[in-house]
Amino acid sequence: MSNRIFEALPGTSDKASAYNQFSHFHATVRARFNLFSVVLLWLLIVAASLGWNLHQAERHRDELARESARSFFDLLLITRRWNARHEGVYVPATPQTPPNPYLKDPRREIQVTDTLTLTKVNPAYMTRTLSELAAERSGVQFHITSLKPIRPQNLAYPWEAAALRAFEQGAKEWAETYQHGDQQGYRYMAPLIAEKPCLKCHAEQGYELGDVRGGISITLPVLAPIPWRGLVISHGLVGLAGAAVILVLGWMLARAYERLRRQAVFDALTSIPNRRFFIEHLVHELRRGRREQVPLGLLICDIDNFKGYNDTFGHQAGDHCLCAVADLLRESLQRGSDFCARYGGEEFVVVLPNTTLDGALRVAERIREAVSGLGIWHPASSCGIVTISIGVAEEPGSTSDLDHESLIRRADEALYRAKELGRNRVEAHRTERPVV
Ligand code: GH3
Ligand code: MG
Ligand code: MG
Repeated sequence: MSNRIFEALPGTSDKASAYNQFSHFHATVRARFNLFSVVLLWLLIVAASLGWNLHQAERHRDELARESARSFFDLLLITRRWNARHEGVYVPATPQTPPNPYLKDPRREIQVTDTLTLTKVNPAYMTRTLSELAAERSGVQFHITSLKPIRPQNLAYPWEAAALRAFEQGAKEWAETYQHGDQQGYRYMAPLIAEKPCLKCHAEQGYELGDVRGGISITLPVLAPIPWRGLVISHGLVGLAGAAVILVLGWMLARAYERLRRQAVFDALTSIPNRRFFIEHLVHELRRGRREQVPLGLLICDIDNFKGYNDTFGHQAGDHCLCAVADLLRESLQRGSDFCARYGGEEFVVVLPNTTLDGALRVAERIREAVSGLGIWHPASSCGIVTISIGVAEEPGSTSDLDHESLIRRADEALYRAKELGRNRVEAHRTERPVV
């Protein structure tokens, strides 16, 4: 809360004590308006959203990579089946496609003419040549592999061997991201299951129908980068904008709340604290007096024949008179802890912490004289000017029974005696002390 609101706080004699009184009164409210906790919470929410979005982006990217690897695999499987169904296909033997030395087939080569020899390409050989083509074109690598390869170069890499063992345990596919240099790649593998046409060549290795014969791994060397920079920047902007909005709205709300609270605890006419603030303050000071074992003086002041003043000059003039008396009361307070309030109508109260009855009587007398000293013309009064009567009571600070109502009642009784004894005077309520 800003201190500015207390600078001209009426009803107390200095700013520091006004602040203390008011801040005590509103400690709970200030805790509720702890804007920085709200901003911190907002920033945490934005940070959590950033984390979640980054995680989602990574997941999405991996899913895309897995889908494209799966498509490659399915396509290869179809071409291999087609090849196996034809028990291999013949292509011209060239330096790029020489006869496959691992293919045990008496009809591996067919001499068609002097210049044309056809060589049989089985599914494994076809996969290998396709893999070379794909690597040249797009960098995607296929690797047909097995734990017991016919061709030694087809031996599984360590990660492929782990995947193959997982397939033997029933896993359907294997996929992971991996790091090479500063690049992230993706590798995928799915099993090759022994089908009837495969056993023609692979039965001699001991495979049976439905066995995991090996697998084809597909390596995508470059994964699409995660757009972390854009995500961080956009979340940063949203976080800052939200924090600014919270701070500005919170500040406006706190000020509006301050204004409302001020209206709730200050008297609209005289601008000094009202009865509600007085009761809160009195209870607080009585507790403190009890803790510190110090007395407290209470004054109840009532303007004499005020009805007559209104009847003579009208209510507007009566209001001005009330304001003049309120100003005087406020100015007559001398200690930082002294406090005055409008109790109601033309009645005012003054709380004097750490003050004995004699001290309170001296303050009351000074106030009474000051009001007469204003010399406000009051033809309906016997003195001809506005005067005030004051009742004084003391709370010694040693009583265990803290009752603000009884203290007010005692001061009120003293006030009525002052009225009965002719007005424009100060009377004290003297507590009967037990004779020891
Ligand atoms: P006493 O000396 O016994 O106190 O007489 P009194 O006339 O002051 O007391 P009484 O209780 O009979 O009348 C109080 C008057 O104060 C009545 C009312 O018109 C006036 N009054 C109360 N509140 C206000 C206010 O806010 N403005 C104005 N102008 N007058 C007020
Ligand atoms: Mg009255
Ligand atoms: Mg009166």
